[in-house]
Amino acid sequence: MPPQRGGWLEVICGPMFSGKSEEMIRRLRRAEIAGQRVVIFKPRIDDRFDAADVVSHAGARMRAVPVSSVAELVARAQGFEVVGIDEVQFFEHPVVSASLELAEGGARVVAAGLDQDFRRLPFGPIPELLSHAEFVDKLQAVCHRCGGPATTTQRLVAGKPAPYSGETVLVGAAEQYEARCRDCHEPGTDAAALGASAAA
Ligand SMILES: [Zn+2]
Repeated sequence: MPPQRGGWLEVICGPMFSGKSEEMIRRLRRAEIAGQRVVIFKPRIDDRFDAADVVSHAGARMRAVPVSSVAELVARAQGFEVVGIDEVQFFEHPVVSASLELAEGGARVVAAGLDQDFRRLPFGPIPELLSHAEFVDKLQAVCHRCGGPATTTQRLVAGKPAPYSGETVLVGAAEQYEARCRDCHEPGTDAAALGASAAA
């Protein structure tokens, strides 16, 4: 059970297609129904869909405020009781202290994001958010290959595993993503040469 008073931090993480945005929308809608002041922020980097909405792959949507920095997020979060942060992995590291500050100020902070990048390495500020959070949910998708529980995100370029040495964040590039389980995840062909034990 959540605390009766005061703020706290919830993290919803997992690979792509695991329903993170949907789960955040579900929680925040309940808070709205309970009459709480709710806001969702997302990094301005993400313009896959309508710029003003958080949209899950399954089509659920809720208004979101795109922000360019953590400072802007904190400034615009004032006065809200429930603060959602979507795609939190794309924010700079200070999003950790900002989330804690908001929680300590009495807000319920719900952060959703990818726990691992396409190499299966911890993504940006997520590890620290997980260790500070009161509540953590790690969602699984369905493996695109075998149908098992998927915990990783496979990046593909022209249908082949993307190079391990590629940029972590590629917005609008012509690559594709699939959810994969540990066994079916394929590191890029350059992973072994780079000594990538995490993806071996
Ligand atoms: Zn699999």
